[in-house]
Amino acid sequence: MTRTAIEEGQLGGRRLQRVVFTADQVRTRVRELSRDISIAYGAEDRLLLIGLLKGSFIFLADLVREITIPLHVDFLVASSYGAGKATSGDVRLLYDPASSLEGRAVLVVEDIIDSGKTLRKILPRLEARAPASLEVCALLHKRLSPADLDPRWVGFDAPNEFLVGYGLDHAEDFRHLPYIASL
Ligand code: 5GP
Ligand code: MG
Repeated sequence: MTRTAIEEGQLGGRRLQRVVFTADQVRTRVRELSRDISIAYGAEDRLLLIGLLKGSFIFLADLVREITIPLHVDFLVASSYGAGKATSGDVRLLYDPASSLEGRAVLVVEDIIDSGKTLRKILPRLEARAPASLEVCALLHKRLSPADLDPRWVGFDAPNEFLVGYGLDHAEDFRHLPYIASL
């Protein structure tokens, strides 16, 4: 099936409403984030990026390739959505990073912040492992959650719509689109 067919809604009748951020906009913004992160940390920080799977996999891959300081990558698997379009609020941790976090600069890379429940559950667990610093870089932020969740780096403020593409899925579809669209 071609990308056009996907866009025209031939994937189970689900039609993309509009492109919210084009591939060009995403590329430019990710490059800016990489530059800011490269400036904020030094080699001595032993930067560890922890990507939240699966949604962050494309963002993380693009982000690290533009970062100019040494870093390591690990992943964390949390699940809250299932196949629906609304968060269940029941956040399950399916894989904890094996890397030692102690004394390191840890940067959690998240695709999108909606209710904030995922990060509120995960951050204390990572903090308990004594990183030197713990920050969040989110590609998208719907700004629905109270101000206690204020990531150091945010790619874009997102509309309160269900978004897909650039790693974000609906029932596992649409992750591979190079832009971000609403469903
Ligand atoms: P939260 O715990 O902040 O409510 O939700 C965070 C997670 O829910 C994200 O990592 C993402 O996997 C999923 N999510 C939240 N909003 C959206 C959205 O608009 N589209 C998609 N595809 N997933 C979302
Ligand atoms: Mg996610």
